[in-house]
Amino acid sequence: MMSYDKKDNIPPNHPRYESLKLRARMVEAYNAGLLADSGLIAHGRGEAFDYLLGEKTTSMAKKAIEAAAAYLLLAQNPVISVNGNTAALIPQEIVELAGVIGAKLEINLFYRTPDRVKAIYKVLKDVGAEEVLGLEENPENIPGLRSPRSRASKEGVYKADVVLVPLEDGDRAEALVSNGKKVLTVDLNPLSRTSKTATVTIVDNLVRVIPYLEKEVIRLKKVDKSQLQEIVDSFQNQENLQDTLKMMIQTYIGQ
Ligand code: ATP
Repeated sequence: MMSYDKKDNIPPNHPRYESLKLRARMVEAYNAGLLADSGLIAHGRGEAFDYLLGEKTTSMAKKAIEAAAAYLLLAQNPVISVNGNTAALIPQEIVELAGVIGAKLEINLFYRTPDRVKAIYKVLKDVGAEEVLGLEENPENIPGLRSPRSRASKEGVYKADVVLVPLEDGDRAEALVSNGKKVLTVDLNPLSRTSKTATVTIVDNLVRVIPYLEKEVIRLKKVDKSQLQEIVDSFQNQENLQDTLKMMIQTYIGQ
């Protein structure tokens, strides 16, 4: 049997085509030095939760995406934090999103090595990123975290008021919130510490979220600030997470 670890080997009529294609992309990114091995494991955990979501964007996720778009448009200094999984899955889309918002891009890695930082920087540059932060020799630090996760670019996450941090770990999400930042995350697991801590949690697959979020930003750019503020004020993260969890459970017990 042909192996499915390369995108071109997967037959398009395979029932798990989209999921296997993403998995193959992750394996390729791992082989190219973009991802740490734990990035593959994180992807696998995400796949399991995506299965429970029916691999689609729920109405709860759409609400969270709208709130995230409003936060990003109201921000003074919005920043998008990029890790290996993000660079592997949606480099072009994340660069485009940053452009539409006027947000900065900053590389932040859990398992940081100079080679991985370089590889991610190159991927972002190759798809058109103008400026990429996170390579500084002497960064600032976010209090409450140990290096290298505490790294924060002076012009980026350090002074940001709103940070989009897809696939974050719980400790950094907590530290960012404790340091007064509005934290927007994308996490397929509604039970993770990150999901519970963030200001806005989008429980959906990053590959579906980022293009949708870009459309929402473009739509809400035409709306006045007071309406954006209303969207932000009426969004309840814990309630949204509870509704998502209920949906996941009910779908599978058939109610
Ligand atoms: P926490 O520390 O917040 O409790 P964790 O230990 O699960 O979470 P990690 O393993 O660092 O944290 O994070 C990986 C998270 O990213 C998982 O919750 C997984 O569900 C999620 N994830 C993986 N791939 C995707 C994806 N493509 N889109 C959205 N979320 C994803």
